[in-house]
Amino acid sequence: MMLIVSMLPGPRVMDRWIAAFLLTALLTISTVPAAPAEETPPPFGPWLEDLKEEARQIGVGEATIQRVLAGIKPLPRVIELDRRQPEFMLTFWSYLQRSINDKRINSARALMVRHRELLEKISAQYGVQSRFLVSFWGLESNFGEYTGSFPVAGALVTLAHDRRRARFFRAQLLAVLKLMDRGDIAADAKGSWAGAMGNHQFIPTTYRDFAVDFDGDGKRDLWNSLPDIFASAANYLSRSGWDAKRTWGREVRLPKEFNFELAGLTIGKSLADWQKIGVRRADGRDLPRVDIEGSIVLPAGSQGPAFLVYKNYRTILVWNRSILYALAVGHLADRIGGGGGLLAKPTKGDVPMSRRDIVALQTVLAEKGFDAGGADGIVGPATRQAIKAFQKSVNLPPDGYPSMGLLERLRGTSG
Ligand code: CA
Repeated sequence: MMLIVSMLPGPRVMDRWIAAFLLTALLTISTVPAAPAEETPPPFGPWLEDLKEEARQIGVGEATIQRVLAGIKPLPRVIELDRRQPEFMLTFWSYLQRSINDKRINSARALMVRHRELLEKISAQYGVQSRFLVSFWGLESNFGEYTGSFPVAGALVTLAHDRRRARFFRAQLLAVLKLMDRGDIAADAKGSWAGAMGNHQFIPTTYRDFAVDFDGDGKRDLWNSLPDIFASAANYLSRSGWDAKRTWGREVRLPKEFNFELAGLTIGKSLADWQKIGVRRADGRDLPRVDIEGSIVLPAGSQGPAFLVYKNYRTILVWNRSILYALAVGHLADRIGGGGGLLAKPTKGDVPMSRRDIVALQTVLAEKGFDAGGADGIVGPATRQAIKAFQKSVNLPPDGYPSMGLLERLRGTSG
């Protein structure tokens, strides 16, 4: 599995976080119907008056409307970030390297010790293991170090006024106005360019529906109150179906003759069935004898690591639809709990593919009669299906995974 993300210049932490956020945003919002980007937005003044009226109708107080919206203007930088075209596919290994390193693991372990009492209390109350709460915390904001520097109201006004995803962001803007009116969020709160907020980068509707005032001061503060921060994440996960008795999944070893058609989240089998097929833990031992279902995930194709994922993995996908993000959350949680690194070694020739490479791949596939649904530079289900069909036709493992090696192979085969 590869995902598209912008490669931003510079090694600064903030750039990495923006890149990670772009990935998150891309995957989280990608299903929202989008109007063409070039559609002209309505005149701002009347649009804002109409928005204020709607805010009044849903019960936002006049004082809040004035304080937050008086003199507000769209932010060109937000539109610029929204229009940024992803240039590279981020591979599993590069994603993992960016999101999990020794420094982050050590910080996470130290924070687990420092906040043990609070974490255990929240863990017991909501039914989410502490190591997962700390893992999300590390991946979302580097433990609160980076929570975004855009004015939330300004960013959301910009995106709600813009036509591309107006409906989605108008709902987010109205939700944030309510939260500001209620006193949960300051009128000048800062967040990501797309309005994600606090230590766990909740979008306003998630904040509204799942944030918890655990310290009892009357406010749900996801910037400064660790009790609120941990409890809100735990509440969100718990209400999304988390099972405290189970883990997220594990790295596994596939049998030599594994049928790659069995990989993917659409296929679930009991651990006993996977055991029968020949799937083992990564170190070769038998799978646990528990009566649960799992699916095989291959984030780097048939040559990369294999994971057997359980129900909690799917709950992580509710939080963020990225398959790579969910694997990173699970793996970091394992490391926090004292586990070692992955046993699989980085795939040889694992280089990020550019948008242009993907277009080339789609074009060659189509030329050879494998319709990838157009050459748009984005790897969607149609492209994966076309890759699988090609792989089957030349007796390669049908993993549907795009790579430079595959592109070379395609160019090398006579049509
Ligand atoms: Ca509070």
